[in-house]
Amino acid sequence: MEKTLFEKICEGEIPADIVYQDDLCVCFKDISPQAPVHLLLVPRQVITRIALAQEDQACLLGHLMLKAGEIARLVGIADSGFRLVINNGPDAGEVVPHLHIHILGGRHLGWPPG
Ligand code: 5GP
Repeated sequence: MEKTLFEKICEGEIPADIVYQDDLCVCFKDISPQAPVHLLLVPRQVITRIALAQEDQACLLGHLMLKAGEIARLVGIADSGFRLVINNGPDAGEVVPHLHIHILGGRHLGWPPG
């Protein structure tokens, strides 16, 4: 099966500005930032989207959430505030079919989202 765009980034085949990586996940800057800080946190293992995640991936999903908070502290937006976003499917604007958590911050983020 063809690799996803984010698999290629995780494996270094496509360059990205990586801010954190470990054996389970990679976090890099979004190519089209929607806020002063806009990062994408992706699991190395492909989960197509959150609605397709499986029970045996619970530890990986927990790891991603813990790392999202750690990365927010690392890049200095934990105290000012930040938002985690997962787009699932067409109505949410999902473009890349490889689960990714958007980490957004560095400005006031409106609510409700558009
Ligand atoms: P989605 O809409 O699927 O939730 O988010 C996909 C995100 O991937 C978008 O915010 C888009 O800007 C970002 N993106 C798409 N292609 C690339 C790329 O080649 N490199 C990086 N760093 N981000 C990308």
